[in-house]
Amino acid sequence: MGLPLASEARLACLENRTPTIATLCSHSSLQIFHGARTEGYPTLGLCVGAPPKFYDAFPLARPDRFLSVPTVKDLPGATERLREAGAIIVPHGSFVEYLGPEAFTSMNVPVFGNRAVLGWESDRRKERDWLESAGATMPKLYEDPREIEGPVIVKYYGAKGGKGFFLAKNREALDEFRPTGPYVIQEYVVGTRYYMHFFYSPITEGGYRLEHGALELLGMDRRDEANIDELYKLGAQEELHRAGLRPTFVVTGNVPVILRESLLPKAFEIAGRIVERSIELFGGMVGPFCLEGIMTEDLEFKVFEISTRIVAGTNLFISGSPYSDLVAPGLSTGRRIAREVTLARATGRLSEILS
Ligand code: ATP
Repeated sequence: MGLPLASEARLACLENRTPTIATLCSHSSLQIFHGARTEGYPTLGLCVGAPPKFYDAFPLARPDRFLSVPTVKDLPGATERLREAGAIIVPHGSFVEYLGPEAFTSMNVPVFGNRAVLGWESDRRKERDWLESAGATMPKLYEDPREIEGPVIVKYYGAKGGKGFFLAKNREALDEFRPTGPYVIQEYVVGTRYYMHFFYSPITEGGYRLEHGALELLGMDRRDEANIDELYKLGAQEELHRAGLRPTFVVTGNVPVILRESLLPKAFEIAGRIVERSIELFGGMVGPFCLEGIMTEDLEFKVFEISTRIVAGTNLFISGSPYSDLVAPGLSTGRRIAREVTLARATGRLSEILS
């Protein structure tokens, strides 16, 4: 048995009843509701104002009920109603970002996964400590611009959605950078990007074993990012720069990818070590997470980011992926979450997957 993440008091609202799977109507909620419904759970959509009309277009993913609040910030005020509904909240990127990490962490409602992970993910330096101490290779950080060799990418702290990044081909080109806030200078890694969707279960028997539990790979995508992905069509970066056009990395969609099979052992090894280290540091990163990195021509995977919950790229695989189909046919990440709840209920281990 692993360590409990949630207290008995927090889970009391789930006793002797079928839980309701709840999430904010955004991001990957269609998949989360669809997966929960497929596994036989009632669903609750949290929404701001009127229920989103576009859900009517997707009857298999429309939640059974909606709980409406005037603004996202009013969600903590709905705690009692959520507990009465026997809700398990499944977090996703928009949920945590709109509500804010502190408000999210303090909500007294069972949450799928370990909410303590947020403190490690939302602080770029702590995230780097965690990943590097797990043995992952990350893009080099330049504390002193005079040390720069090769291209760099400058990121502001807390930059969201890939806006405001600055690319420089070399140290000289960085002279043009006029900071408007605290930032980090990172090696710009040249290679091909992969966003790998993993799922860590502390309670599953069999599969790819870690010290406690098992690791699954459920899918992989590459993000479409505007305007960087199409900018080359207009000409060389220098010309564009002179014309006042700056690259941005705003995610507008996702495309499915797979990795050369011979690189899969490396991917599992890195992901496994990151999970093991998370257990030592804060009790474990439970459930879905995404390793985001760049494979270089030397076949080295440099991780620039980890997302510690379901990512929107998994929406490609609502009816399964080339990887998840080899775990169980038609298994989406949303459905995998619901199955984890089923397994934990059957074995009396909910406190190890909820916090
Ligand atoms: P989000 O919060 O949406 O995940 P973010 O502001 O944290 O975005 P990152 O995820 O770090 O930003 O990076 C956004 C994009 O920039 C990546 O998807 C990738 O295309 C590119 N990128 C980031 N770091 C590097 C790097 N070191 N080398 C090359 N490209 C990079």
